[in-house]
Amino acid sequence: MRSLSSLVRPNILSLAPYSSARSEYSGKGSVFLDANENPFGVYNRYPDPMQKALKEELSGIKNVSPENIFIGNGSDEVIDLCYRIFCRPGIDNAISITPSYGMYDVSAAINDTDLIKIPLDQNFQLDADMLLQYNNDDKAKLLVLCSPNNPTGNLLKNLDDVIKNFKGIVLVDEAYIDFSGTPSYIDKLSLYPNLIVAQTLSKAYGMAAARIGIAYASIEIINLFNKVKPPYNVSALNQLAAITSLKEKEEYENQKQLLLTERKRVTEILINAPSVKKVYPSDANFLLIKVDDANSLYKYLLDTGIITRNRNTQIPNCVRITIGSPSENDALLNAILQFSI
Ligand SMILES: *Cc1c(COP(=O)(O)O)cnc(C)c1O
Repeated sequence: MRSLSSLVRPNILSLAPYSSARSEYSGKGSVFLDANENPFGVYNRYPDPMQKALKEELSGIKNVSPENIFIGNGSDEVIDLCYRIFCRPGIDNAISITPSYGMYDVSAAINDTDLIKIPLDQNFQLDADMLLQYNNDDKAKLLVLCSPNNPTGNLLKNLDDVIKNFKGIVLVDEAYIDFSGTPSYIDKLSLYPNLIVAQTLSKAYGMAAARIGIAYASIEIINLFNKVKPPYNVSALNQLAAITSLKEKEEYENQKQLLLTERKRVTEILINAPSVKKVYPSDANFLLIKVDDANSLYKYLLDTGIITRNRNTQIPNCVRITIGSPSENDALLNAILQFSI
């Protein structure tokens, strides 16, 4: 890894962050006249800008110290901050894979950063040699990987070598890691100072409405995130909702197990469905299937009230299907079994 200071945008390195009222004084008091809040009401006070209680809760679950945790307004904020901290607009570039999550492109474009996309092989795995040829480019500041990958559903193999050898920052987006049955790269943060692991409460934790995305990284990188984020980026309601849901550990386990059982059941039935040519193996809570004509399957399902994600433009004739409740999955299976072209 090149030195962190050579990877950070100079203006971010020298940035004096905004100091909010609640970050200057966060102790106990009885008369708060420092933040121009309305003294009346239930939601009248600004939230904790550093989300301490939520980080404590996550720290216990993930076995990571709170200083190594950043909370964003969804992982989309985490992704955007990575470009904003490391990539100089119009000068630096970032590297990712294709097919993958569309927000990597959109965030790169917003930040005027070229995104070089390495095609995955036919098993949707990474060609590490192709990737590391960009390693001598000093302008390649950020590598964005997604594992399990969306929309292909598979874990990327052999990421250790890539993280170890890449000289810039590596963001590994683990939005679906809870469904994969494999350990998170969080466990390897101390080995790789250039690693940022992004997770979310939007998928396995069932909290998409609360917009809680998380970055795990070295204290130095987390401090950069804290400098650049808007002061009160996670609302008090969302912080509280997240803490409440994280405490319901049995509910989380039960839902996850049910979804994994359903993933297996839906896979086995779809494999034998006449109109389905291929069901790709999934480490996530969705399946990518290949059919003869994705556009017509997509439209047929839409007409029966079932909304899937047509990925035809990214991967020819493929549709991405989320694993739903057992009755939702039954509706999907019945419809697909009746579909013929
Ligand atoms: C769903 C998803 C996310 C989650 O985004 P949030 O903003 O946290 O809801 C992140 N990355 C990928 C690849 C996803 O599919």
